[in-house]
Amino acid sequence: MIKDKSGRGIDTLRISITERCNFSCLYCSNQFNKLDKKDILSYEEIIKFVKIFSCLGIKKIKITGGEPLIRKDSTLLIKKITHISGIEDISITTNGFYLYENIDKVREAGIKRINISLDTLNEKKFEILTGRSCLKRIKEVIKESCKIFIPVKLNVVIMRNINLEEICDFLNFASKNNLILKFIELMPVYKKISFWRENFVPFKNILDIIKKHTYIYPIKKNGRIKSYESSEGIIIEFVTPITEPFCNKCDRVRIDCAGNLFLCLYGKPIINLKKLDGDILNSIKFYVYNRDFSFNPFVKLKNYRLPLMNTIGG
Ligand code: SAM
Repeated sequence: MIKDKSGRGIDTLRISITERCNFSCLYCSNQFNKLDKKDILSYEEIIKFVKIFSCLGIKKIKITGGEPLIRKDSTLLIKKITHISGIEDISITTNGFYLYENIDKVREAGIKRINISLDTLNEKKFEILTGRSCLKRIKEVIKESCKIFIPVKLNVVIMRNINLEEICDFLNFASKNNLILKFIELMPVYKKISFWRENFVPFKNILDIIKKHTYIYPIKKNGRIKSYESSEGIIIEFVTPITEPFCNKCDRVRIDCAGNLFLCLYGKPIINLKKLDGDILNSIKFYVYNRDFSFNPFVKLKNYRLPLMNTIGG
């Protein structure tokens, strides 16, 4: 496994395959940057880069976007990636909309586990939050997914004025559908700083609300994720980039849909792999080895940029 100079092993590559999304979530930045088709990574380029990263010891691939399933033939790309030697785990994060008609293709492509993002169980709020009125469809696809993928994780970003009161509803929903709940602290992203200020809720507050509703106990802390189990057997995970950043355990790098390599979600793009001439493998090795200990703005308040969430994919 490739390690950086701080000794952090890197085994995961997160690849955004498109900046386009059919949702316009209030906390995301997809209204601000539409790219030219020629600037987007082709599938051949993505496969080439995954092969290079697998030579460096990357074993896990996360496909993201934009909405990854909006891109034509994304399941064919996924299938090809599953056949790359050294890749042991491939998963996808999706808003669920196109999963509805593509669920068999996604399974056949080799996806075993999946993350579905859903921040409210209320139709009206869903419409305000995403700009779409299709909550019923998303709930149905979540239920279907639970029969096919193990596990299905529900990514829920908690926001003070949107869904803070729904935490218990999410626990019930997870319990009924056998889902793992993954609560994510709201992060500030490009042009959404005021939304972040108004809506950010610290992890500890979320935990306190859950504790009032049920008994939970910690089961695992793998660095990035804190896992708890409730007395009803619901697994609840927390991702706490703001209040308890996990830079010292960071095990991943990212490629955005234009081919920019990021060593941190809040870092600057290091190189553009699409445009790079010459020895890509050794360039990546050099930059990854020399990656800074932390770019996270909440650890080190300099040298950061706010991510364009839809091009980098979270
Ligand atoms: N469209 C796909 C989806 O919905 O999962 C993939 C892209 S989306 C950018 C990936 C994840 O990033 C989603 O779970 C989304 O909720 C999360 N995300 C986007 N903006 C965020 C923010 N400002 N703070 C925390 N999480 C965010």
